[in-house]
Amino acid sequence: MFANLSDRLTETFRNLRGKGRLTEADIDGTIREIRRALLDADVAVPVVRTFTSNIRERALGAEVSGALNPGQQVVKIVNEELVAILGGEARTLRFAKTGPTVIMLAGLQGAGKTTLAGKLAHHLKQQGHTPLLVAADLQRPNAVTQLRVVGERAGVPVFAPEPGVTREDERPRGNPVKVAKKGLKEAEQRQHSVVIVDTAGRLGIDQELMSQAADIRKAVEPDEVLFVIDAMIGQDAVTTATAFQQGVDFTGVVLTKLDGDARGGAALSVAEVTGRPIMFASTGEKLEDFEVFHPDRMASRILD
Ligand code: GDP
Repeated sequence: MFANLSDRLTETFRNLRGKGRLTEADIDGTIREIRRALLDADVAVPVVRTFTSNIRERALGAEVSGALNPGQQVVKIVNEELVAILGGEARTLRFAKTGPTVIMLAGLQGAGKTTLAGKLAHHLKQQGHTPLLVAADLQRPNAVTQLRVVGERAGVPVFAPEPGVTREDERPRGNPVKVAKKGLKEAEQRQHSVVIVDTAGRLGIDQELMSQAADIRKAVEPDEVLFVIDAMIGQDAVTTATAFQQGVDFTGVVLTKLDGDARGGAALSVAEVTGRPIMFASTGEKLEDFEVFHPDRMASRILD
């Protein structure tokens, strides 16, 4: 995902190697290269601005500490600032003290929510939880069926509206808010420790859909609302994330399709713009293509 950005930054740092002292011009030249590399990777402009101005300020004031030469010092600063825009410390899921922990998924259609629901359920099951998947995406004809397939693969039960009334190509009937509530009740009765509610998305931001998601949020009072975003979405990432933040006030972010070869700037913009942590990453279509997101590991990967 970040191959190109990674190469560009490595190249930039190579030019600093062996310099005994960095002049202001050296630093400005480096910052210019970093800015270009980030913009070319589709990182949002305000994020690039904050990032580069922090680096400039710190690099100019940097003490040359014993072990590091000036070039290494700049790499260290860039690394630390990269970790910071990626959210700083990794954050894990907050679990409910009593009753099932409710995790709601929101995001545009095609972002990878349903796939992620299965992966998250699988991940939690491996940790000893007993998740229930709830199919509250009644927008897409195939969504319920797809969640059932995903659930089966993960070995996790799925709560869905009564089957039989819909054809494959027809929208499942029912009210998603009611389905979500019933799913939660089912989880309480059957003592599931976690409920993962998959919600509908559309291709673009849509008021009706956003208010449906907000209604589901109100009805099930989730412990976590995860905004699922395709890392290949490019410059649209910020608008989309901002709209979902206003619409459903998500508590964490999941980046999907990090296995793609697009420029990946979305990944570097969303946490900084929304102030919400990236918690998981999806790196493929298989159940195992899933990771807990660690800002420091991602930064090292980019600067490798
Ligand atoms: P939803 O509409 O948000 O529920 O999205 P889906 O879960 O249906 O995913 C949309 C498409 O993206 C499907 O074809 C998935 O197989 C694919 N997909 C989901 N996550 C990933 C990922 O991390 N990497 C890749 N390469 N494909 C993914």
